[in-house]
Amino acid sequence: MDSKEVISAELGAYVVNNRDIVFLPTCSVCGEPITDMDDANIMVDGSPLANSPMIQIGRDHLQRYEGRVVVAHLRCDDGRRKPWFRASRVFVRRRI
Ligand SMILES: [Zn+2]
Repeated sequence: MDSKEVISAELGAYVVNNRDIVFLPTCSVCGEPITDMDDANIMVDGSPLANSPMIQIGRDHLQRYEGRVVVAHLRCDDGRRKPWFRASRVFVRRRI
């Protein structure tokens, strides 16, 4: 596998057909917008669990992963980043 640089997950704003505005995740590998959330994964790139302290919000205790969150088309994902979920578990599925 090459060592291609990936970017952290980000959203881009797009105007579709000069009418609708949509916010779409940008593929962390190829840089293209992801339009089908079932065709992409969201995952952690880097260290698994952080040594950071727990954050308590109400009755829940949260511990943040140290790695960067990235999102990538299935065809761009090299399968090395964990944990991962299908992007449709995080983003509302939308096709343009
Ligand atoms: Zn891609």
